[in-house]
Amino acid sequence: MTNPQRSVREVGAAGYDGFFADAVARLHVERRYRIFADLERMAGRFPCAVWHSPQGPKEVVIWCSNDYLGMGQHPKVVRAMIEAATRFGTGAGGTRNIAGTNHPLIELEGELADLHGKEAALVFTSGYVSNQASISTIAKLIPDCLILSDALNHNSMIEGIRQSGMEKKIFRHNDVGHLEDLLSAAGRHRPTLIVFESLYSMGGDVAPISRLCDVADRYGAMTYLDEVHAVGMYGERGAGIAARDGAMHRIDVIEGTLAKAFGCLGGYIAGSATLIDAVRSYAPGFIFTTALPPPICAAATAAIRHLKISDWERNRQQDRARRVKSALAAAELPVMLSNTHVVPVAIGDPAKCKAASDLLLSKHGIYIQPINYPTVAKGTERLRITPTPCHDDHMIAELAAALVEVWGELGLPRGCLPYAAE
Ligand SMILES: *Cc1c(COP(=O)(O)O)cnc(C)c1O
Repeated sequence: MTNPQRSVREVGAAGYDGFFADAVARLHVERRYRIFADLERMAGRFPCAVWHSPQGPKEVVIWCSNDYLGMGQHPKVVRAMIEAATRFGTGAGGTRNIAGTNHPLIELEGELADLHGKEAALVFTSGYVSNQASISTIAKLIPDCLILSDALNHNSMIEGIRQSGMEKKIFRHNDVGHLEDLLSAAGRHRPTLIVFESLYSMGGDVAPISRLCDVADRYGAMTYLDEVHAVGMYGERGAGIAARDGAMHRIDVIEGTLAKAFGCLGGYIAGSATLIDAVRSYAPGFIFTTALPPPICAAATAAIRHLKISDWERNRQQDRARRVKSALAAAELPVMLSNTHVVPVAIGDPAKCKAASDLLLSKHGIYIQPINYPTVAKGTERLRITPTPCHDDHMIAELAAALVEVWGELGLPRGCLPYAAE
């Protein structure tokens, strides 16, 4: 602990370090200090990977990857990246305004606008940045904007809202009635931006998009939808849940990532040409950073194009998710209800959640990241399993058996759900 009697300026650099040591110590006390697994993915063998453990390298099966469809190793995607690097080199060489706007990036934006049936799209260096920069900029450009935000929105959206400096109100998760109450309380004339996600990744539950759009229409509000956990995986061409539900044209701004089901890196928004032009012109998080490199753009475009015409990955992923859910339910493990590809298993205690994850990795060669606060609310700690097209029946059987053993070892409750998915 730092000594409050002596100022840090007397102690010097070591004194400042004390602040950081204290901050980290607090995380240990709360059982939420994070340890990253050093993984070596193997193209062609996903979900198998080498874990560089403290005892040396060991082969494991990854069960919590957001490379949801295995597109990060798809031959078309890998080839596109290599070919683009060979033709165009590695980096973009500048911001969008200063020599960084490369042709593969323009093609990618065209592909994304087409995917979502919008006039235009704009690519950012990550999904996180796309939310933060777009939401803050859009809200700032609307005079007296009121932001209505779902209670479980991702941190990148919350940061965008905060940065806008505009007034925000939070509606209960997926609660259309509560949203309507807030809209009606705001009065007829207040410009309002509704910000929400389509598929909430920690519980695997889905927003009632059409009903939210009905309310937005009735009150003349604008809609901003994060489809990060749905693009590539839902809808006929992989455009997401809004597309699947026939509501995509009703959403003003769709945000997505190139880093999850598309297997690459980067984020984007799609919307009207005018809105895209404004965000392009005003968002600091877009303007003052180097453009996405040509090889990444080319690889992302290849993944999007493939998933526009191929249903195989989507169908197989849903099939795998169903199989995992029924295997775990048959083993009386507390699978949380979800109708999507996300399979959360409830634990409800941060230390046990971490211990379960550690045992799975060290004893069973199964890697599932513990999900603790602040990613989810305290008391709802869980393991979040994401079956992909690459997980075979044998892996699923091994997963169920390993979980049963770990549940026994830690004395975790079987066969009952302490709580439903939010
Ligand atoms: C992962 C995630 C993001 C950020 O996307 P990245 O491309 O990983 O930066 C945004 N929104 C949600 C809901 C996410 O889960």
